Amino acid sequence: MSYIVGLTGGIGSGKSTIADLFSALNVPVIDADIVARKVVEKGSPLLSEIVAHFGQNILTEAGELDRAALRKLVFNDDKQKHWLNDLLHPAIRTEMQHQLAVQTAPYVIWVVPLLIENNLVEMCDRVLVVDVSPSVQLARAAKRDNHSDELIQKIMATQVSREERLKSADDVIYNEANFSDNGAHLKQQVLTLHQLYLELAEEKCN
Ligand code: ATP
Repeated sequence: MSYIVGLTGGIGSGKSTIADLFSALNVPVIDADIVARKVVEKGSPLLSEIVAHFGQNILTEAGELDRAALRKLVFNDDKQKHWLNDLLHPAIRTEMQHQLAVQTAPYVIWVVPLLIENNLVEMCDRVLVVDVSPSVQLARAAKRDNHSDELIQKIMATQVSREERLKSADDVIYNEANFSDNGAHLKQQVLTLHQLYLELAEEKCN
């Protein structure tokens, strides 16, 4: 099993951007959001349970989960949110454990937006946090998703604070500066960490 580097950060902090840079170095990337979509894909037993609970309206015309509709239903309803989390979290965890277990590369980048919130730090050998100030986070996420500042702020309020997240970090990438230098400063930080993770993975093997 590969050495596991958990990559986390708040909404819009730059996790995908950083994960892509590791991927360009041929490091396998497992993304919790993709796993979360896989467990409720069309035809899955979990999707049937969600439909049985919330009704057919939760499906798109193509028979897939209407994630926006589901989000709206549970956002202000703690009871429904808990029901959904109790259904999804064990399945997502099992699938992620499976995907991590079959890796053979020296190390793997495991992208988990809610790594700390969902108590998954213990599954990692190392935690890498992408850090930006809340104002930059808000501006980038609102622009990317074409969402209001208010919605992004609401989502940010459901995530741990910047300070809390940094307490769990073994390594930090500061992503405050804009891509003015074509991301060269980020590539350099990723390259330095890549060398470190290869060494740590090797040490763990021995
Ligand atoms: P989420 O958790 O919301 O999916 P994320 O943490 O994966 O977000 P990204 O999607 O990588 O974040 O970045 C958010 C947005 O900010 C994207 O549009 C990305 O292109 C942009 N971005 C990331 N880093 C920088 C940077 N250094 N300068 C300018 N824009 C950036």
